[in-house]
Amino acid sequence: MDMPAANPATLAKRDRVLARLAEVLPEQALIRDEAERRAYECDALTAYTCLPMAVVLPGTTAEVAAVLRICHEERVPIVPRGAGTSLAGGSLATEDAIILGVARMRDVLEVDHADRIIRVQTGITNLAVTGEVESDGFFYAPDPSSQLACAIAGNIAMNSGGAHCLKYGVTTNNLLGVTLVQMDGTVIELGGAHMDAAGYDLLGLVCGSEGQLGVVTEATLRILPKPEGARPVLMGFDSSEVAGACVSDIIKAGVLPVAIEFMDRPCIRACEDFAKAGYPDCEALLIVEVEGSQDEIDEQLGLITQIARRHNPVELRESQSEEESKRIWLGRKSAFGAMGSINDYMCLDGTIPVSSLPFVLRRIGEMSQEFGLDVANVFHAGDGNMHPLILFDANKPGDLELCEAFGAEILKLCVEAGGCLTGEHGVGIEKRDLMSVQFAPEDLEAQMRIKDVFDPHWLLNPAKVFPLEASATRRAA
Ligand SMILES: Cc1cc2nc3c(=O)[nH]c(=O)nc-3n(C[C@H](O)[C@H](O)[C@H](O)COP(=O)(O)OP(=O)(O)OC[C@H]3O[C@@H](n4cnc5c(N)ncnc54)[C@H](O)[C@@H]3O)c2cc1C
Repeated sequence: MDMPAANPATLAKRDRVLARLAEVLPEQALIRDEAERRAYECDALTAYTCLPMAVVLPGTTAEVAAVLRICHEERVPIVPRGAGTSLAGGSLATEDAIILGVARMRDVLEVDHADRIIRVQTGITNLAVTGEVESDGFFYAPDPSSQLACAIAGNIAMNSGGAHCLKYGVTTNNLLGVTLVQMDGTVIELGGAHMDAAGYDLLGLVCGSEGQLGVVTEATLRILPKPEGARPVLMGFDSSEVAGACVSDIIKAGVLPVAIEFMDRPCIRACEDFAKAGYPDCEALLIVEVEGSQDEIDEQLGLITQIARRHNPVELRESQSEEESKRIWLGRKSAFGAMGSINDYMCLDGTIPVSSLPFVLRRIGEMSQEFGLDVANVFHAGDGNMHPLILFDANKPGDLELCEAFGAEILKLCVEAGGCLTGEHGVGIEKRDLMSVQFAPEDLEAQMRIKDVFDPHWLLNPAKVFPLEASATRRAA
């Protein structure tokens, strides 16, 4: 994956720019030292690294605005960063860019149970938001598996989802307002503590814009009352295709579980070793969770298990206790880490119509033979949000390139099946050159014109989202 060469004129300004930044930031918020900058040379797509020119860690919206104003005047690129858990290379730097991290901005600014909102600085982690309100019987619904580490900033920029988003929607459905600092340092408020916003839906535009339109410093999030109860059921099948068909039938039947998660044998094994979750020995596993009152849970599970039985499951087992349910979810949420502890992998993220699951899973199996690389699957099946993990050997020459080529074919398959290139991880550097598979030139042009409005010099998060050639032309203009 290429990154654009550093602009020598920008590098030459380094000392002057850092001196100006030192005037508006406290000492500890400006990282110049190479050893400390190394901590920011990649995100969770660790195959690609690049050392930023400097790192700034402002503590307030005003400091963010001051940094952006200087970088705008000096024409220095900025890479916004939350916790750096992007799997798409979304927060990877370029050599002539400054990383602007919001990790010091973690304050809870307001909690209002009556209006069911929480207002936070965006460096707060996803899990800490629920942590703030759960003793009062509330929770924040989007639950990426990385929720212990990832920040609300990155969740907003990537429009992140999670296992329980089938029922509650993803970030955009739970975000009410943001404070956005634009590249020239001006601060605007989008949305607020209320449903819907007056005027154009700029909040909808910013959510999922991958740090391309501004830096989000504060957010108003919807919190929900915790359900009375919840229970997962484990469904084991003797093939991925059959499990896929079962998912499609559950969705078709009109039941709305809170989560339907899928794992195939390699992931089941890795997660079981890691979390001792009690997963059955089978080719494909579904974790289906329903919630509500005891009666509602029994009724929904009755219907769902009836559908599953038509697909001859090798195992059909309801969780018997809170403790067992926790282990079941710990196993699922540890999947990426557990796989990573035994193999190098590249995690893909494409979305397909749920009814195409059996076909797409079969094709991925065939393509795995053709490319000679194994694939493990773990994903949000109810949303049709696939996460094939392509296993490769980072030390074997050519394997990464083979893996990239295989990944591109899988994502093209998702588009051909009527889906799209990304479900929740974003485009980043990983899929930027595939955008022309999904979009016609006029569609891409319309999106780039929106970027032109917010960031006329294309300084925000360079070399991401749009095909490299197109964004280079834009930057040079
Ligand atoms: C083990 C593991 C499991 C994961 N599971 C899931 C999952 O279940 N669901 C899911 O959706 N994702 C998942 N991810 C991916 C990742 O955690 C999400 O994309 C997350 O939202 C990134 O948050 P972050 O704070 O780490 O953002 P970063 O990686 O720091 O940045 C991500 C993007 O946001 C932009 N950005 C960051 N801060 C700001 C800001 N203040 N203003 C504007 N733009 C900004 C960056 O420029 C970049 O484009 C997983 C990752 C890992 C490593």
